[in-house]
Amino acid sequence: VVVEHDPQVMMNADRIIDMGPGSGEQGGSIVFDGTPAQILEAESLTGLYLKGRLRVDTSLSRVPEEAFRSWLTVKGAREHNLKNIDVSFPLGAISVVTGVSGSGKSTLVGDILVPALERSLGKAVACGDFDEIIGRSRISEVMFVDQSAVGKTTRSNPVSYVDAFGPIRTLFAGVPLARDRGYKPGDFSFNSGAGRCPTCQGAGFERVEMQFLSDVFLRCPDCDGTRYRAEIREVTINLDGRREVSVADVLEMTVDQACQYFRAEREIVRRLKPLQDVGLGYVKLGQPVSTLSGGEAQR
Ligand SMILES: [Zn+2]
Repeated sequence: VVVEHDPQVMMNADRIIDMGPGSGEQGGSIVFDGTPAQILEAESLTGLYLKGRLRVDTSLSRVPEEAFRSWLTVKGAREHNLKNIDVSFPLGAISVVTGVSGSGKSTLVGDILVPALERSLGKAVACGDFDEIIGRSRISEVMFVDQSAVGKTTRSNPVSYVDAFGPIRTLFAGVPLARDRGYKPGDFSFNSGAGRCPTCQGAGFERVEMQFLSDVFLRCPDCDGTRYRAEIREVTINLDGRREVSVADVLEMTVDQACQYFRAEREIVRRLKPLQDVGLGYVKLGQPVSTLSGGEAQR
């Protein structure tokens, strides 16, 4: 059994099981089950793309070669098997480095290009052997996205990953009831502090060890899975004039709902926006990162 998006692998399978119809809450059903020949006639999204009745439109955003104005050039790259090569990457464009396994792609990008740029931005990192990198003054930030896990703990979730929870907690600490009671932003954290449920330590569930079976997670009976003490949940905000919302309610919002709800709070929206941009608008703010799919975690 192979989990795979690659059309070549799919079309060479003996049987295809297609899941969907959408992502997250909109997924979870089998939308097609049959042979590769049959899926070409199916109405599932996968079938429509395989047959070519739907296609990814790449024409709009492609940068023509003559429009490349500035470049990033690595000179004398010679880490591992690299043969003292010079490579230029156009800026403001998408470049692909390809080649057979073991040919030096990861060494060039992961061991030289990325750490060399990080170094020039003041980060102390180990870097492979090369002479110089030209054009780096045009780079203000480096982001290396690979397939490694993004903290596979039940404590990490989308809202904390993009640092949007800080300004949200500050918002709660600022309402009159919170100020009367002397609450600080830290009291609205579920990872530490006095505001989290003492029974489950803010996890929302309790781990029950089963002697011969894998552990079972049970909804915490004291906070009913909300992660917080009842007093903390009494503190509410009302940004849309319709509903009083507690910090526990915020963690239940999807990214799309939160962007709408906090639309007047620019800093919060600015931090949540990247999640929306990569198509994760349907993910809940408080959903543990450990429950995201491999592709979702990577994005
Ligand atoms: Zn609890």
